[in-house]
Amino acid sequence: HMNETNRDGIAHGSSTEKRPAEARRIQANSGSQLRKPLCSLLPASMPSPSLRLAVVGAGAAGLAAARELRREGHAPVVFERAAAVGGTWLYASPAPAAAADPLGAAATHSSLYASLRTNLPREVMGFLDFPFTAARGSVVDARRFPGHQEVLRYLEDFTQRFDLYGLVRFQTEVVGVRREAGGRWAVTSRKLGEKGEQDEELYDAVVVCNGHYSEPRVASIPGDLYFPTLTGADAWPGKQMHSHNYRVPEPFLDQVVIVIGASASAVDISRDIASVAKEVHIADRSAPTSTCEQQPEYDNMWLHSMIDHAQGDGTVVFQDGSSIKADVIMHCTGYLYDFPFLGDDSTITVDDNCVDPLYKHVFPIEVAPDLSFIGVPWKVIPFPLFELQSKWVAGILSGRIKLPSKDEMMEDVKAIYSRLETRGWPKRYTHNFSGGYQFEYDDWLAEQCGHPPIEEWRKLMYAANAKNKAARPERYRDEWDDDGLVALANEDFKKYF
Ligand code: FAD
Repeated sequence: HMNETNRDGIAHGSSTEKRPAEARRIQANSGSQLRKPLCSLLPASMPSPSLRLAVVGAGAAGLAAARELRREGHAPVVFERAAAVGGTWLYASPAPAAAADPLGAAATHSSLYASLRTNLPREVMGFLDFPFTAARGSVVDARRFPGHQEVLRYLEDFTQRFDLYGLVRFQTEVVGVRREAGGRWAVTSRKLGEKGEQDEELYDAVVVCNGHYSEPRVASIPGDLYFPTLTGADAWPGKQMHSHNYRVPEPFLDQVVIVIGASASAVDISRDIASVAKEVHIADRSAPTSTCEQQPEYDNMWLHSMIDHAQGDGTVVFQDGSSIKADVIMHCTGYLYDFPFLGDDSTITVDDNCVDPLYKHVFPIEVAPDLSFIGVPWKVIPFPLFELQSKWVAGILSGRIKLPSKDEMMEDVKAIYSRLETRGWPKRYTHNFSGGYQFEYDDWLAEQCGHPPIEEWRKLMYAANAKNKAARPERYRDEWDDDGLVALANEDFKKYF
């Protein structure tokens, strides 16, 4: 495959990797306390200072970041806990629930279930300059909304094509990130699968790409549901789990299952389970209290208002007073931002799922640009957003793009909070980009980076998909009306081949 060329015309590929790698090797061999920024080891003629950077995670965000940082001339090292790239798209059977970790959250990263197909059309979903088109040579599942394995193959292709494998330290978990007095960052990592040895190294900056679909968020329900502390006759006796650990419907054969939530996963999972379960009851907190509706096209699925309480005899009572005896409660109640490796010197806090204060959802203001986060926003098209955020971070780290003053950044963050208030949105929606905001944001980033805005066809196709999903909730992945846009996208993609 072709080597890629950065904006300065310097090729980065297997054959030309030696120039920056050589400098890096000098760096790597020096004692960690003695390490200097890589810029001091490079000739003065380098167009921008090259920094030694730690990237946490080799999912789609970490891969995008690694590519952009290297394109900018930096030297990223990507730490990845798993043995492969792909993050969320690396399907894994959940670890058996342990008493201390009943959700198995700590042991399993990916929340994918076996039947998962993308909920975005592939044309929309892919990176901007590396189309996720069915015309790629390695395509196995050419459907427009392919199964999860196809997305993993695409990310592997991306890693290969941009020669990123060599940047990743696999089975290496970041366990600590600490700011040193000199302004550099001490990254402590632990090699998994061996003796668990820890290593500490200094970096000029850290880019956090650890994802936010692994740490389950649970609804609290009167009756002490969810890992009840009540015991004996008062405790609800059924089985509870989170969608994070749902994989296949078979264990729910002939059972009565309550699914809490109304998100994409709740919808998919309730349909999956309805194929084998006796009954599926969806408890949706945004449904009016009186709701108790059989779902169209199903004779064993009902929509309810939220659960009011659960009882020791196995009964679950909904807010409208109706009740059922259930075997399982499945919490499809989303996930939490979690950065267990960051200490107070990261200067951010996470409260009610708001990472605060983050300028443009990327930089903690006090330590910008040394610490950054790729992929915090949700209700977005993730890959293109990761790509633009990464370009912006890379350009800022090299000084090519300027950040405003701390006061100005804080004003911008406050404006986000007052917009939330105006909309009447809770704090936990701070990083929710629904309502058209994502393209405004993407295009702002693109402008900062001197990159063209998001393609018009992509914006239109995203809207067409949302409309089609509402009109054909059961069949939107196989029936659509936007073939004209597909043709436009495929025409546009030709320039990348
Ligand atoms: P992740 O993919 O979660 O990657 C984070 C990586 O960081 C992981 O590899 C993890 O092992 C690693 N890591 C974490 N902590 C550490 C540490 N301390 N040290 C070292 N490594 C660490 N997006 C779409 O575009 N289309 C879809 O159809 C779609 N469907 C989805 C369905 C489900 C059920 C879920 C959960 C998500 C879906 N998404 C979808 C969103 C998806 O999460 C994004 O596409 C994308 O995979 C997120 O990438 P990421 O790199 O931010 O995070």
